[in-house]
Amino acid sequence: MSRAKDLLRVREILQRRRREILTTSAGTHRELTALKEQERDPEYEENAQSELADYTLSSLMEAQRREVMLIDAALRRMDMGVFGECVDCGQEISMERLEALPFAIRCEEDATSHEQDMRGGPYATPSL
Ligand SMILES: [Zn+2]
Repeated sequence: MSRAKDLLRVREILQRRRREILTTSAGTHRELTALKEQERDPEYEENAQSELADYTLSSLMEAQRREVMLIDAALRRMDMGVFGECVDCGQEISMERLEALPFAIRCEEDATSHEQDMRGGPYATPSL
């Protein structure tokens, strides 16, 4: 199979995933709204469990939003014809890597050294 066909397959995976997230996300949003309405009820007693559910739903939505952004960015790179190219060295990222990690913007080698840079760089989280 040619790489162009492989990329088309990855595009389909991304688009399907995007639709899935948006469907799930709408459900999460409804749940969160229902929870908030319940909390506005003066009879309703605030408890740790609902706070936890609130927090869980909020972070779930945040994760879903982030993934849609990553998918959109990947689809944009496809439209620009640069999808699957490493942003550091310009080499083609292996198809296995793209299928496992469709949002990858670096080849395996550069991703590893990038992570090391981040760890040692100014944005590194100090270890206590
Ligand atoms: Zn590279």
